[in-house]
Formats: sequence, structure tokens, C-alpha cells
Amino acid sequence: MHVTVWNEYRHELSEEKVRAVYPEGIHQQIASFIETPEISVGTATLDEAEHGLTTDVLAKTDVLIWWGHMAHDEVKDEIVERVYQRVLDGMGLIVLHSGHFSKIFRKLMGTSCDLKWREDGQHARIWNVNPAHPIADGISDCIELEQEEMYGEHFDIPAPDELVFVSWFPKGEVFRSGVTYHRGNGRIFYFQPGHETYPSYYNQEVQKVIQNAVRWCAPKNSRPRVYGHFQPLED
Ligand code: ZN
Repeated sequence: MHVTVWNEYRHELSEEKVRAVYPEGIHQQIASFIETPEISVGTATLDEAEHGLTTDVLAKTDVLIWWGHMAHDEVKDEIVERVYQRVLDGMGLIVLHSGHFSKIFRKLMGTSCDLKWREDGQHARIWNVNPAHPIADGISDCIELEQEEMYGEHFDIPAPDELVFVSWFPKGEVFRSGVTYHRGNGRIFYFQPGHETYPSYYNQEVQKVIQNAVRWCAPKNSRPRVYGHFQPLED
């Protein structure tokens, strides 16, 4: 299996407090806990040619992980379309944190994907509301994070195919923080933790969720997608 971790990679280069948490970039930290003898990992970033998402890279990618925030608009529509077609053809997609506003996630959802937010350094509890789901395998009742950005409802997404996590924030908000979708042959998982100034991607349970999600999102069959005019099967 091959995973590509895509990161906008701007905050880390422009802000010392982000670089302090992710000195090699968020993409390298995520790659470090995804790679196994069975799973090869590559990374891609916004400022590479074609944002690092060439046709060849996407053709060999089974699961694409997406982290973006300040430069969603700089992602070229042509590359978004390329990723979109690969998802419909069966590539898995994991969208993290502020990726909720990425062009690719909004295109796949068909809604604004807007939400409430507050960066106040409070703790968060990510409740496991679907313990039998493969993405929640090995995860306790709730994941405790010392600091995470508040994301609150209403989250303007279509009704998820499955709800896996719901987050609680100490000032009163709740948020559907782990949700799955199917689009065409592709599987999609959105997961909320991962604000750039907090060390959420060092948390072992957050890592476990993303590792589980890679397996869940990986293509399960290669059924070709056939649409359009169709010859009758019976006389
Ligand atoms: Zn954030």
C-alpha cells in the first residue's frame, strides 16, 4: 500500500511557534507514524510543481492524507479535479483539521463545510461513539488532548455515512469530529485534531486513529466505474 501525505507547508516556514512543534513540517510527522514494512509513504506540498500531486503520484497513491489551512485558494482547480477523479475511482482520502475548508473536501461534500472555531488553548475530549468501527479499533472511551482548537457545531457537512467521534470542548461546544463518507469507489474520513500550534499528531491515540483510517480508506476492490449508454443484457 502507498500513502501520500499532502501538506500546505506554509505555517511551519513562516511562524516560529509552529516550527517549534513541527520542525520538519506536519507532513513529516504524519509520515513518521504511518510508514510500516507494508505501507510506503511519500509526501507532497503546495509549493512543489503540480503541488506534488502529479498524475503519476496520484496513480500509485492508495490513500491521500490532506492538511491545509491558510492557502486553500492557491490549490489549482485542475489538481483538485485530478484528486476528485482519483477518489471516485477508489483512492482513499483522509482530511485533517482545517482541511475541512479545502477545495477538495468542499467539492466532495457539496456543502460549505463551515463551522465555529476558537483558538484558546483549552483541552478537548474526543469521544469514541462507534467503538465497533475499524477506525476506532484500540481507541479508549475518549481521547484526551491537553490542547486543541475548538471546532463547534453546526458543522455544515452532509449527514455522514458513519459518525465515529464526537468532540467535547470545555466552554460548552460539541463537534462531529470523526466522520466517514463514500463517494464513487472512494472512502473518505474527516478527523478534526491537528491545529498547527498544538502537538496533537504526537498523541498516540490520534496516531492510532489515522493509522486505522489509512487501512479503512484503502481501496477494497477495483470494480471499474461504468456509466452512460448501456447495451441490454437480455434479448
Ligand atoms: Zn487550526
